[in-house]
Amino acid sequence: MIRKVEQLVNSLNGRYKEREDEISGALLALLSGEHVLFIGPPGTAKSMLAKDICRCLEESSFYYYLLTRFTSPEEVFGPLSLESLKADEFSRKTEGYLPSANIAFLDEIFKANSSILNSLLTILNEKKFHNGRQVMDVPLYSLYGASNELPEEDEGLQALYDRFLFRYYVAPIRSEQGFAQVMSAKHDGFEPPAQIGMEEILENRSRALQLELDDEVLATILSLREEFRRADRYVSDRRWRKTVDVMRVAAASLGKERVDISMLPVLQHLLWDVPEEKESVRRGIFESCVSHGVNLSKLKEEAEELFRLAVSSRNLVDADARFPRIVYCYDCNSSFTNLEVLRKHHDAHPKHSYMDPFDDSRGRSKGFRKYSYEELINMLENERGWKLTEKTDSPQSRLYRKEVDELRRRQQEALKGHDQEREALMGELEGNIWLSQRDRKDLQLIFDHRIVMLQEINMLLDDIAKVLD
Ligand SMILES: [Zn+2]
Repeated sequence: MIRKVEQLVNSLNGRYKEREDEISGALLALLSGEHVLFIGPPGTAKSMLAKDICRCLEESSFYYYLLTRFTSPEEVFGPLSLESLKADEFSRKTEGYLPSANIAFLDEIFKANSSILNSLLTILNEKKFHNGRQVMDVPLYSLYGASNELPEEDEGLQALYDRFLFRYYVAPIRSEQGFAQVMSAKHDGFEPPAQIGMEEILENRSRALQLELDDEVLATILSLREEFRRADRYVSDRRWRKTVDVMRVAAASLGKERVDISMLPVLQHLLWDVPEEKESVRRGIFESCVSHGVNLSKLKEEAEELFRLAVSSRNLVDADARFPRIVYCYDCNSSFTNLEVLRKHHDAHPKHSYMDPFDDSRGRSKGFRKYSYEELINMLENERGWKLTEKTDSPQSRLYRKEVDELRRRQQEALKGHDQEREALMGELEGNIWLSQRDRKDLQLIFDHRIVMLQEINMLLDDIAKVLD
C-alpha cells in the first residue's frame, strides 16, 4: 500500500501547489477513518481536493453539499420515502445522500442548523444513521468539512468541531507561480495513478492497532499533555487516544513495526484548537522530537541563573568599598583606599610589596616587615578581619561548582549523541510521506539550532567556572 499512497501523494502534490500538508492529512485521515476540517477563505480548491481524494478510493461514492442556515434534512440525508409513509413509517431514501457516501465534503459546515446537527453528529461519531426505526451503518470513511471561520460559542457546534480530529488552516496560495498554476489548472477529471481498496485500508488499520509505541514517543506524549495542562489547554482523553491511533496507522502504512519518534510531527495537525495556537503546538512537538529528553532551553536558563548567582557571590566582596585604613606600596609609596585600585596596581607592578596599614612606623621601625600582595591580602583578612575575597572553598562556592559539573554532564549528554540522532531521525523522516518538505526542513533547523545552543551553554559554563576560580 505504501507505494500506492506515495504515488497518490506525489500526483496530488503535482496538481495542487502549496497543499502538501492538506493532501497528506486528507489521505491519512482516510486511512484512519477520521474527519478533516479545513478552515480558511473560500476558493482554495478544498472541495476539488476532496473530490479527487474520493477518486483515490476504489468504487467509492462522493457526496458534496454547501450548507446554509436553512438547509433541511431532506437535502442532506435524502427525501422521505412515500411508500414508508403509506405504511405509517418515517424513513428516507438515502441513496445518493450523505448516509450512503464513502467520502463527503460539507462546505460551510458550521452553518449546520439544529434540524440536521444531531444526525450529523451521530454519523461522524458512530458512523450510524437513524432512519426511521432502523439504525443503518453508514459506509463513510472520512468527512471533509470546510468553513471560513471557527464555530461560535454554541454547544452543538463545539461538539461538531470536536469531531474533526485533523484540522488545517488553509491559507491562500502564497507563491505567484503556485497561484498562476491554480488559475490555469484544468478542472478536468483527476485520474489517480493508483486506487486504494477498502480491504487494504482495513487490513492496514488492524495491523496498526498491534503496533507498540517506542518509549520516547510515549514520554513525549506525556510531557506534551503536561505542558498543555499547565497552559490551561484542554485536550480530551478521547482525542489523545485517537491521535495515538493515527500515529499507528501512519506507521503501519509505511511498513514500520513500531511507532517511532519520527511519527510525532503528524500530531501537529491534531492538537490545536484555535489557529493562533497552531505554530506553538507545532514548535512544541518538533522540539520534543529532537530533544531526546534534554530540554536545552531549560538547561541554558539554569546555566544563566547559576552564572548570575556565581557573579553575585563574588560581589559579596565589594571591590569599591573603602578600606578602614589606607594601604601603602612599599616600593613606590602609592596609596590605596579600596581593593579595586590595589588590584590594579598589583596587576601593573606584580613585584611591588606593601606595608601593614596598622604599622605606623612607615618602614622605619625595627620590627617592620613588608608583604607581597598575596601576603598582604592574607594578613588583612586573617589578622585584621577585613573581608576582601570570597573563599573559593566556601560551602556556597562548592555548591555552585557541583552545579556546574551537573550542568556540564547534561550538556555533554546532549552533545554526545547529537550527530547520530540527527542522522537517524533524518533518515526516518526521508521515507515519511506523511510529512511535508517544510516539516523536514524545520526539524533540520531545530537540530542545527541545538548545536549552537550547546556551544553557548558550554561557553557559559566555562565563564561560571572562571568566576568561581
Ligand atoms: Zn608600588
